[in-house]
Amino acid sequence: ENGSQDTKHLRVKLVLLGDSGVGKSCIVLRFVRGQFDPSSKVTVGASFLSQTIALQDSSTVKFEIWDTAGQERYASLAPLYYRGASAAVVVYDLTSKESFQKAQYWVKELQKHANAGIVLALVGNKADLDNLRTVSTDEARAYAESNSMFFTEASAKTAGNINELFEEIAKRLPRGQP
Ligand code: GDP
Ligand code: MG
Repeated sequence: ENGSQDTKHLRVKLVLLGDSGVGKSCIVLRFVRGQFDPSSKVTVGASFLSQTIALQDSSTVKFEIWDTAGQERYASLAPLYYRGASAAVVVYDLTSKESFQKAQYWVKELQKHANAGIVLALVGNKADLDNLRTVSTDEARAYAESNSMFFTEASAKTAGNINELFEEIAKRLPRGQP
């Protein structure tokens, strides 16, 4: 069940997965509210937010975004969270190799247990910290390509590539017959 009502106006459940601290909540708040709060040291308590975007063909996609409030530490809870999701954004912090490895764990988990046909995106967040980068663009892109995922590097802080990420996911969502 992908939550779509008709082909022009989709409603989709989107989940974010990734290590604690990679910037999942900041990505959501940047996309939904256009804000970045540098003082939020840990996860912002937003657990459910929605945002509708319009595509060039005047169709719309309403994203119902499930963000965790720290439950990413409990891998056993994840299936409850991504059940029924039509899209998943797996986030790592491009200054953290460890978070990139954790992202690969989540990708495998989603490939095994998520909806067939789920749209998967891999996001290297904190692109503004390029001088502290430890995960190369080439390495991450190659990984994403070999797993048929959309890939981008983004920054919730500067807003770089955040809207583009959600637009790209919207375009990749399966549409019913017109
Ligand atoms: P979450 O645990 O994955 O939800 O991570 P948060 O969204 O709570 O962010 C964790 C920390 O990373 C916070 O201190 C944020 O201010 C910081 N952060 C998030 N996104 C960015 C970014 O794009 N650039 C930089 N420099 N810091 C970020
Ligand atoms: Mg969070």
